[in-house]
Amino acid sequence: MKKCMIIGCGGVASVAIHKCCQNSEVFEGIMIASRTKSKCDALKEKLQPTTKTVIETAQVNADNVDELIALIESYKPDVVLNLALPYQDLTIMDACLATKTHYVDTANYEPLDTAKFEYKWQWAYREKFEKAGITALLGSGFDPGVTGVFSAYAMKHEFDEINYIDILDCNGGDHGYPFATNFNPEINIREVSAKGSYIEDGKWVETEPMEIKRVYNFKGVGEKDMYLLHHEELESLALNIKGIKRIRFFMTFGQSYLTHLKCLENVGMTSIEPIMYEGKEIVPLQFLKAVLPDPASLGPRTVGKTNIGCIFRGKKDGKDKTYYLYNICDHQECYKEVGSQAISYTTGVPAMIGAMMIINGTWNKAGVYNIEEFDPDPFMEALNKWGLPWEEDFNPVLVD
Ligand code: NDP
Repeated sequence: MKKCMIIGCGGVASVAIHKCCQNSEVFEGIMIASRTKSKCDALKEKLQPTTKTVIETAQVNADNVDELIALIESYKPDVVLNLALPYQDLTIMDACLATKTHYVDTANYEPLDTAKFEYKWQWAYREKFEKAGITALLGSGFDPGVTGVFSAYAMKHEFDEINYIDILDCNGGDHGYPFATNFNPEINIREVSAKGSYIEDGKWVETEPMEIKRVYNFKGVGEKDMYLLHHEELESLALNIKGIKRIRFFMTFGQSYLTHLKCLENVGMTSIEPIMYEGKEIVPLQFLKAVLPDPASLGPRTVGKTNIGCIFRGKKDGKDKTYYLYNICDHQECYKEVGSQAISYTTGVPAMIGAMMIINGTWNKAGVYNIEEFDPDPFMEALNKWGLPWEEDFNPVLVD
């Protein structure tokens, strides 16, 4: 029996779990293991009557390697799908190593006390995973994730070399709140309040937060302001895609979101430095998370679409070429299907597909790999099948 252990039971995990249950030919058994077991039990109660996948649940503290090892040893999954937070990546990788179990995640490790996304901590496990004969698939969400698969696909089928990549992440959704984040608020705010950066000629170029703004007209959404951000897949794509001269990442934000964020920053609410409050140490950003709407509650209220993709420029047969690969996803359609908005959906579906690639042996090599290091074709086919169909444009408007 092929089994997957899913760690975490938040917004993204909920979608991945729904999708595993739709795909019970591959996922014959799943265990949902998270900090709050009642959430896992509630999902099991909802989904078990609808699927052949046998669902089990467990409580686990994923910061504790011994607890993880004990749970993996008792359930014996073929793969562990880490959908907790980036802080747990290394403890879960340690437990996978100890039990010789494959590992998949959607976000790179980040220490709690420094908001810095880098692959160096996880890449340091390469040799250990290789020796243990197991795979770690890093970054199997949308971005990172599908953006890496799109890049590998463009490289394989459309180009001899890719010189420029612009990753454009547009959320045209409206949840009606003046300020809320679409995924874990702590992770989201750490990401957008950090300095921006991009890679040019092999070097990082740093910008002030939100310093570089462009306007783009997204198919299915319309014209939006977008801002250059640092994003983790830039680091791996610049190494893994042949010929890269520059790679940038842009995300759209509305004016209301930015005004609120600036104000929260100005008063110190986005800080990750602990402060004393009434005799107790608290982290302002964690307190802010507690008062903001839970991203999982946005599903029923969010209308509109997302459009996420990559614009490639490079050479084919000696000629200049441009190519745009993207997916459009509708918030309300996601909600109807799995009870979540499109941000969780666009991450949870590729998480399930990544776990499927490993569990059925389609992707099979020992070591630690970013997603663009595997053959993109079966993943691209699965995106069309499992709810994230992609579109291509051979003459896109470019970002200056
Ligand atoms: P949520 O906060 O909704 O869910 C996180 C889950 O992890 C919760 O169920 C939480 O438990 C659980 N958890 C947290 N800490 C622990 C722990 N120590 N032990 C066990 N369980 C724990 O986050 P999201 O679902 O929005 O995001 C999940 C992941 O997906 C994040 O790493 C995020 O960065 C990533 N992501 C990736 C994207 C991509 O495109 N690549 C896009 C969006 C997100 P509890 O229920 O008790 O709080």
